[in-house]
Amino acid sequence: MSDNRTSPSDPDLTSALAALRREKPALGIPKLHALLLSENPGWLVSEKRTRKVLQSLGLTNTVKTSSTNSTGGLKSPASKLLDGLDPFKFTQKGPALRVEYFDEKKGKGLIATTNISEGTIIWKEDPFALAPEWDIYDLTTNSVACTFCSTPFSDPSSPLIVKCSDNPSSAYCPARFCNRLCSTRGAKVSHALLCPARNPKAKELFQFIRVNHWMALHALVQCTTRLLLSATTPNQKQPEPSLDEEWAIFNSFASLSLEDREAWLGSHQHMHLTWKEAFQLYRQALWDPPTDTDKKRLAKLSKRTFQSAETEAVRKKLNEEFFSYDAFLRNLGRMSLNLEGHGGLYILHSHLNHSCTPNVSVRHLHRSTNLSRISVVTKRDIAAGEELFVSYVDPGLPVSARQHKLREWSFRCGCEKCKEEEAATGGETGEAEPPTDLEKELKDGLGLF
Ligand SMILES: [Zn+2]
Ligand SMILES: [Zn+2]
Ligand SMILES: [Zn+2]
Repeated sequence: MSDNRTSPSDPDLTSALAALRREKPALGIPKLHALLLSENPGWLVSEKRTRKVLQSLGLTNTVKTSSTNSTGGLKSPASKLLDGLDPFKFTQKGPALRVEYFDEKKGKGLIATTNISEGTIIWKEDPFALAPEWDIYDLTTNSVACTFCSTPFSDPSSPLIVKCSDNPSSAYCPARFCNRLCSTRGAKVSHALLCPARNPKAKELFQFIRVNHWMALHALVQCTTRLLLSATTPNQKQPEPSLDEEWAIFNSFASLSLEDREAWLGSHQHMHLTWKEAFQLYRQALWDPPTDTDKKRLAKLSKRTFQSAETEAVRKKLNEEFFSYDAFLRNLGRMSLNLEGHGGLYILHSHLNHSCTPNVSVRHLHRSTNLSRISVVTKRDIAAGEELFVSYVDPGLPVSARQHKLREWSFRCGCEKCKEEEAATGGETGEAEPPTDLEKELKDGLGLF
């Protein structure tokens, strides 16, 4: 024990605790307190103060989390390459990797093009669509974290923080942004359409999402909104990126093959009522509200007019690929497959395949400036030509449990570790293992965390 420990300021303590809570959502306060002190050996903080700060942030409740530390990504028969994706634009120090398409079965992956030593940040990336974990989500709806990048505010009364603009006076929007940049970007990709003060149906949808802890649905709403907001009429000056570009990105995220999807749907038959309810709320909030007034309001918010024949074709395509029930289920499955462990879809990250002995890990290193930005870091030395792998599940689990969880991504792992452990356990495959927690199983399958 050091004698010269000092008491941290409230903002420092607040952001440290928010970050720790984010990492360890299920930890009780005494353990979180112990962890805080071990990570900040120079700090003198009582458990009581820790509890107080967590209470003020609304972070004392433990939240449901996926028991996997899966980091999204996926290779499935339906994974596509994105034309013109330039991995160099993500890398910090010159080209370190390339995208490779293996085959129909495995899909795509990332290959190191140089030797990379352990502990190197290979790239950093901001989300295409963000659906943060619920503790962080709650900070955004309580006006103490940025609605765009989800970074908790170290000082929620800072004059830099931007409130949601042009609220109708009758309705309140809790959205706050780190600064002008986050505010502008946030409006452009989602908030212009999802602001609860301007789109009351979106408010209903989000209440449903929150109650059901449905992260995949949240991610789908964010993706859909992004596309809708880029779908301006062709004769207007196009804000980049265009709908086509956004659509190409969306389609590049892997989705289940038709066959796997049938199996997935079949095993969740009894969830149909929940899906139907979700679909109705989703459609009303983003596409087809029940009243004429709401229809007009939505058209204005999404800047869609669909007057010419060309825009009518766009409307038809959007309707088919997002707002039919079938498309909705397909897209939900796609979100579940690609979600990063802390919530969100990342373009380059989604190319990472799974191994039970991963050689890279995904970190959120910019906790106080851009929480949603990920850094992909090597866990060991990697040689040029090696494929980069994350683990979608906790590699510390026994092989049967790993294989069981990986069924969520519709594949069996054939890595060396799995082969060895399966041989050692007499060829046990995990397929026959009965679900230990049916409810959890169902939620995992739906991307409900
Ligand atoms: Zn921000
Ligand atoms: Zn708003
Ligand atoms: Zn394996």
